[in-house]
Amino acid sequence: MRLLTVQTDRGPRACGLRDGLYVDLNAADPLLPSSVRELLALGDDGRTRAEEALARGRVRYAPESSTLLAPVCDPRKIVCVGLNYRDHAAESGVEPPEEPVLFSKFASALIGHGAPILLPPASAEVDFEAELVVVVGRGGRDIARADALSHVAGYAVGHDVSARDWQLRKPGKQWMAGKTFDTFAPVGPMLVTADEVGDPHALGIRLRLNGRTMQDSSTSQFIFGVDEVVAYLSQIVTLEPGDLIFTGTPPGVGMARKPPVWLQPGDVVEVEIDGLGTLRNPVALR
Ligand code: MN
Repeated sequence: MRLLTVQTDRGPRACGLRDGLYVDLNAADPLLPSSVRELLALGDDGRTRAEEALARGRVRYAPESSTLLAPVCDPRKIVCVGLNYRDHAAESGVEPPEEPVLFSKFASALIGHGAPILLPPASAEVDFEAELVVVVGRGGRDIARADALSHVAGYAVGHDVSARDWQLRKPGKQWMAGKTFDTFAPVGPMLVTADEVGDPHALGIRLRLNGRTMQDSSTSQFIFGVDEVVAYLSQIVTLEPGDLIFTGTPPGVGMARKPPVWLQPGDVVEVEIDGLGTLRNPVALR
């Protein structure tokens, strides 16, 4: 199943994708929530009801006239893994880490497919990072690695927009500050449930800047797989339905280029992952 959150004049609406249209699930079944996060919290029962609602729903939104939010627009947590592709660690000039490197973004950074990434006046070095985003389904704490993938509801395309001047050159290296400016967490267009994705460690991942391919790799290059990241993180925090986990970026980012490439007003960034679609966001000045 493919789940989206459409912004309407009644607020965000959980939808499923059917025949190219966004089917409003709560309009088809009033017992279903209008929030994708709350739908995920219903587990298998919610999944079954949502599939039935998707098959018969009549309230449908056309993509060309819809505003998309991130598929989970109100997660309780957004956690990110840094330096999780072998080649990206190499281009960053650091040894591959022995354990996952974690940081976070606030939910206020989330935007959906089509919304503009806003360049803040406080940064002159805003970079791009294509990322696979894991969406937590069943929550838990101290999850065993062998059980970890059963806690994953699905996956989405993500973009870890990164202000390098803040991330790397402020006192103490302010990773979180550099990564959580408003609009610095595009996710979408949709959440694809895990059963439709198959092996999350065999997905082609690409980023195009104004049509030019800048990153082109595969999640087979992960240092820490999805199961390992979920298990590791669950030692620290209780994972909850709808939590988002950004899983790191492959090589080709702007800071590693000579000369470096920073996002500019008028740019268009597309992140594409096999089976998950293409997340496209224009870039504008704030
Ligand atoms: Mn990243």
